[in-house]
Formats: sequence, structure tokens, C-alpha cells
Amino acid sequence: MVEKSLAGKVAVVTGSNSGIGLGVAEALAAAGAKLAINSFTDRDEDHAMARDLARKHGVEVIYLAADMSKPDDCRALVTQAAEKLGGCEILVNNAGIQHVAPIPEFPTEKWDAILAINLSSAFHTTAAALPLMRGKGWGRVVNIASAHGLTASPYKSAYVAAKHGIVGLTKVTALETAGEGITCNAICPGYVLTPIVEAQIPDQMKTHKMSREDVIAKVMLARQPSGEFATVEQMGGTAVFLCSDAAAQITGTTISVDGGWTAM
Ligand code: NAD
Repeated sequence: MVEKSLAGKVAVVTGSNSGIGLGVAEALAAAGAKLAINSFTDRDEDHAMARDLARKHGVEVIYLAADMSKPDDCRALVTQAAEKLGGCEILVNNAGIQHVAPIPEFPTEKWDAILAINLSSAFHTTAAALPLMRGKGWGRVVNIASAHGLTASPYKSAYVAAKHGIVGLTKVTALETAGEGITCNAICPGYVLTPIVEAQIPDQMKTHKMSREDVIAKVMLARQPSGEFATVEQMGGTAVFLCSDAAAQITGTTISVDGGWTAM
């Protein structure tokens, strides 16, 4: 039998009923971690997704509905997961949304929602998780930032601000936990073809007056020298690596999985 490197650990992944979060959850379950997956919905299919992951990987998986735009929900997600699964040693802050518009036309409510979900939620979940990690003397915080945490693009003011913010929060979390068996790092994906990216294509077509094919090739992948989308499996593999013993001295930094985007 293959040894499962994260057997016995409990992981919470925010925004994980889709896309990168689901890919990371799947990789953590495959490595043996018990899991709480999450989104703001509470549908039968969300709970069925947890049951499927549990069956496939032979680990305990629960689905917890919590809205990452609400501070109390963020903290309750971590405490409920700990009550039901026995701790929270791995926290992956992944939930995120996007809106594309020039600054003068950017709706205030979209700015507030992006800052709340893509940045502030990670502060609240981390605040709830660190005492639990300290109690076990071991912890891993993995923040899903973005190439937009290191560089900018026009029309994405809130997203770029939130992602630069989460890179800063990553560094502070690392400094406050250094030497305690706890690390905090950010993964910075380039473009991954998930629902959040699909949803941007119509807006980008309108803004740039381009076809779908041209938006993918000339706007999105123009920044990604590999000319290929990154995959959710690659994000999962990177997260599992950051949770491994090999990564025990990697803290407060970013790992780009972006086909060379930020090398340019
Ligand atoms: P996605 O839309 O497939 O997934 C987003 C997840 O967040 C979903 O599970 C959704 O239900 C959840 N979510 C949204 N609002 C929420 C809320 N209020 N409360 C709880 N959950 C909520 O998109 P994705 O591409 O998988 O994005 C995941 C993360 O990766 C985001 O933080 C995104 O910014 C980041 N990212 C994505 C890409 C990309 O190219 N796809 C690139 C860089 C970074």
C-alpha cells in the first residue's frame, strides 16, 4: 500500500465545490487528509460531492455551507470543521470571485464583495485556525493568490488589489508563526480554465471587442509564455507539496504556477 503523506491531518478548503478548490481538495484527500469542503450554497449536490470524495479516497469528507463574504461564517467554518473532524491543521484559502470593469465604472458592491471574499475571508479563517494549529504544533496555511498578486492587468482593480493583499497577509502569517511548525505560503496560478475564467470571457470579449478564441489566445494566454492553461491537478499537487516535510522551511513566499507569466 502507498503511504499517504497527510494521513490523519484535517484540512479545510474554502470555495471548494468547483475549479481549483475542488482540485486541491481532491489532491489532499488522495494524500490521506480528512477534509471539510465548502461554498456558500447548501444543495444536495454539494453534500453528494463530499460523499463522492470520501468514497473515492477512503477518507472522511464533509461539506460545510459558509459564506466567505461574512466574517462570522469564515470563523464558524473552521471551528465547525474542527469540532466534526478533530482539528484544522491544513487551511487552504481559495474562495474567490472576479469582476472586470474600468475603475470609474467599477460597481462599489463588486469592489466590496471581491475584497471580502478574496482577501478578508483568509484573515478570518486564519485567525480561527492558528490557535488550533498551535495546539497540534503543526500547521499549513496555503493561500490561493494569483499571478495578479504579483502583477496587474487593466480592468481588474479589486481582484489585483485583493490578490496583492493576500500575498502580504501570507508574509505576515509566516512571520507570526515562524519556528512553531506552521508555514504559510501563497500559490500564484496563471490562467486555469475553470468557471471563474469561463465567466470572464464574455466581459473580455466586450471590453476588447474580440472573439472568444482571440480573447483566449491574445488576451489570456498572451501573458502565459507556455501558451497553455495551468490545471487544477497542478494546483493540487503544489498544495500537497507545500504541506509536505520537504516544504517545512518554505514559508512566507509565493510559488508561481503560471507557465512563465511572471518571468516576463
Ligand atoms: P471557481 O469559480 O471555479 O471557484 C470559486 C470557488 O469559490 C467556488 O467553489 C465558489 O462556490 C466559491 N465561492 C465564491 N463565492 C463564495 C462565497 N461567498 N463563499 C464561499 N465560497 C465562495 O474559480 P477558480 O478558478 O477555481 O478560483 C479559485 C481561486 O483561484 C480563486 O481565489 C481565484 O481567484 C484563484 N485563481 C484562479 C485562476 C484561474 O485562472 N482560474 C488564476 C489565478 C487565481
